[in-house]
Amino acid sequence: MNYFRTLVSVLSLPLLMFTSCSSTHESEEQAAAADWSGYDVGTIVFVDDAPSSRGSEIYHELIPDPESYIREQARVVLSTLYFSPNDSITPVEEILYTLEDRDGISAKGGGDGQVQVYYSTRYIEKVFAEDPSSERMLFETRGVLLHELTHAYQLEPQGIGTYGTNKTFWALIEGVADAVRVVNGGFKGPQDRPVGGHYMDGYRHAGYFFAWLQENKDPDFIKKLNLSTLELNPWSFEEAFKLILGNEADPEALWTEYQASL
Ligand SMILES: [Zn+2]
Repeated sequence: MNYFRTLVSVLSLPLLMFTSCSSTHESEEQAAAADWSGYDVGTIVFVDDAPSSRGSEIYHELIPDPESYIREQARVVLSTLYFSPNDSITPVEEILYTLEDRDGISAKGGGDGQVQVYYSTRYIEKVFAEDPSSERMLFETRGVLLHELTHAYQLEPQGIGTYGTNKTFWALIEGVADAVRVVNGGFKGPQDRPVGGHYMDGYRHAGYFFAWLQENKDPDFIKKLNLSTLELNPWSFEEAFKLILGNEADPEALWTEYQASL
């Protein structure tokens, strides 16, 4: 199963450095984030399959230690999708991350704990040609990575078929992946936010909508949406929204409210 991305972008990394804190007044946020520092995100294996490409050269200049970098972003993703390491989290044994000289941007494949993600050196070259700043390249690389890593750790809806056979399944999976990117500063804000369409269009349509719901309706919306897949069978947007936001919640009405706010 491959999750292909079509769109993108990034921002400065909130470097999550946690040191042991002797203060008894550690904030809840710090405490919650610190919890993930010991979580086993799986073995990260980085393989450069295009070492002679310009894209590879650009990547390595930006990211000298890819495995640490990916691990760090994995914890950002996990802390966005889950309340704590004690939740029922999709187990990931290994993430094989490859740089490849191929078309496309980046995609996740694999399953059953063995995940593969490729990142295209041609895409790196394309982004670099448009804006040869390391800031821009790192922003883009991090944004794409947050999206693909979400696919590794997110939960999947039950009772409605598969990613390839069911549009609701697909829209949720791609919407949550872009939502994680949105709320972690992985897109260029309103500039990247689509107007119109529908949340069933997935990706940024759904992603920015979920982020708006998190901002305006429930500060834990994305976590609850992810976890709703464990509670609902068959899963649907209608039932998930009721579960998270109350029986009166209607995805269509909220979508209309969201669009009106743009
Ligand atoms: Zn995707």
